[in-house]
Amino acid sequence: TSFEEAGLRPLLLQNIKNSGYVKPTPVQKASIAVILAKRDLIACAVTGSGKTAAYLVPVMNILLEQGVAGASHGMIQRPEVVIVAPTRELAIQIHREACKFSYNSVLKSVIIYGGTVTSHQRSNLQAGCNILVATAGRLKDFLDRGVFDFSGVRFFILDEADRMLDMGFGPDIEKIVNHPTMPPKGIRRVCMFSATFPDEVQALAATYMEDYIFVTT
Ligand code: AMP
Repeated sequence: TSFEEAGLRPLLLQNIKNSGYVKPTPVQKASIAVILAKRDLIACAVTGSGKTAAYLVPVMNILLEQGVAGASHGMIQRPEVVIVAPTRELAIQIHREACKFSYNSVLKSVIIYGGTVTSHQRSNLQAGCNILVATAGRLKDFLDRGVFDFSGVRFFILDEADRMLDMGFGPDIEKIVNHPTMPPKGIRRVCMFSATFPDEVQALAATYMEDYIFVTT
């Protein structure tokens, strides 16, 4: 199967092609179908498998199809997609891929991560944010300061979930997903990507996901 056969929007297809992707990897084929069918997903995927596009492509297609609220200019941001990653390096890669796929579209990806001053990242956010790519710790800090309203979140994505738990971000992830403005299970979809499935990862899935589909390739 090809990206064309997935029934993606022409602009997104064009941006995928321009990124040099010819055909989907196995995890992309499986995940694109599950996410387009609006199901929660756990995918067993390592770096290099194409896991980033496996969630970005279907999620962005849904946003383009359903429309986004329009980036609200101001202090409080209402992203439609929240992607959490363990490290700054991974967050940067995800954000880069999101920018390539959203080229010439209405979708705006913004990145926030720790280890630097927050002022620049906050001013980036003020121009609007549909897709928020964040490291867990920094996102929790921003939440504590009231920077986000999550009532518009349709997709909550955990990339390298096992690594985030290993690094001790479990409590931060819980605070993020339990934020008072976060829509309930079934309204917000959750997609989790992980290389391994220890008890902690399974417990996270059991708590925050609904009738999820498990994909392994
Ligand atoms: P990831 O596993 O998401 O970190 O992706 C690993 C690398 O493979 C990245 O450099 C991607 O840009 C590239 N990549 C992902 N999917 C495809 C694809 N379908 N065709 C060609 N390259 C891809």
